[in-house]
Amino acid sequence: MTSAFNIDKLVRETVKGLQPYSSARDEYVSDGSKMIFLDANENPFENGLNRYPDPQQRSLKTLLSEQKQIPEQNILLGNGSDEVLDLIFRAFCEPNQDNIITLPPTYGMYKVLAGINAIENREVLLTSNFEPDVPQILEKIDKNSKIVFICSPNNPTGNAFQRKNIEELLENFSGLVVIDEAYIDFSENQSWISVLDNYPNLIVTQTLSKAYGMAGIRLGICYASAEIITILNKIKPPYNVNQLTQYQALKRVLDDTLVQEEVAQILNERKILVNALNEVVFIEKIYSSDANFVLVKVDDASKRYQQLLDANVVVRNRSNQPLCENTLRFTVGTPEENKKLIAILKELN
Ligand SMILES: *Cc1c(COP(=O)(O)O)cnc(C)c1O
Repeated sequence: MTSAFNIDKLVRETVKGLQPYSSARDEYVSDGSKMIFLDANENPFENGLNRYPDPQQRSLKTLLSEQKQIPEQNILLGNGSDEVLDLIFRAFCEPNQDNIITLPPTYGMYKVLAGINAIENREVLLTSNFEPDVPQILEKIDKNSKIVFICSPNNPTGNAFQRKNIEELLENFSGLVVIDEAYIDFSENQSWISVLDNYPNLIVTQTLSKAYGMAGIRLGICYASAEIITILNKIKPPYNVNQLTQYQALKRVLDDTLVQEEVAQILNERKILVNALNEVVFIEKIYSSDANFVLVKVDDASKRYQQLLDANVVVRNRSNQPLCENTLRFTVGTPEENKKLIAILKELN
């Protein structure tokens, strides 16, 4: 029950007592007036990047806060969502003692991060229609279960989970529920950030790597209660988001219209791609997608993967994932790329 939720019981003892590193840029916050900065041992000759970046990324947070209608105190930024996820592990999971719940087939990083942080990963398979098996999850939870990781829309299956399943978890688990929304901009479902106030145990992660087309700059976003954000801020490296990333992210997020146009085009291409895949004889099933990729079941995934490689097309073979035997995952490309993929698929035998 969320009524039993108590953040003090979840945070690691070492983190509770921690005094964060105080950087020069934390101690003196510029108010815009012309100052002489002799506090951080930087090279004084200006080249655009000789100064340390803002450790709190204020300009970017202000913009995201306006766009997403979420107060800045509920936002933390990281070096990709991978760093954000790692910070969550390190703040809340005691090595060799705590456990997390993941729902395969899903994004591989949760398991890798659990391994790195010496945290037991308890896996509860999705149901055959790729939904969280809520009774099984609640069954696996014990007093050392700190986090349930939910990826929605899910990678590699592509579907967004039903709202009531996630709600049931949020309401019946007194640990943290992390909803990874890397693909939310491709989904018709509303982001869970709109109900952040209702769930003190909810953490939502997003990224500029997919819909925003900025995988190269590494910018991940975490939305959560002010209490959770304060804890994560305590342990994050002071300058985890570099100046170039902050600058490029700001430009891109400001260009929201262009991003939305690209997303609309990708969604349109997804529809065209799915229609064409329906006519490929060795494709046995096309899973419905709320993301910018499509998972398909084929007759022989290794063979088809190799044939596509030979034709200079790289896709992802997801067959080693549970419930995903003989599946390939196609990212939606440009119209030309998708046309080529379809032409090649129709030629294969
Ligand atoms: C691609 C992806 C990410 C992105 O991670 P970044 O570190 O922000 O690039 C996160 N979660 C899922 C499920 C993904 O598929």
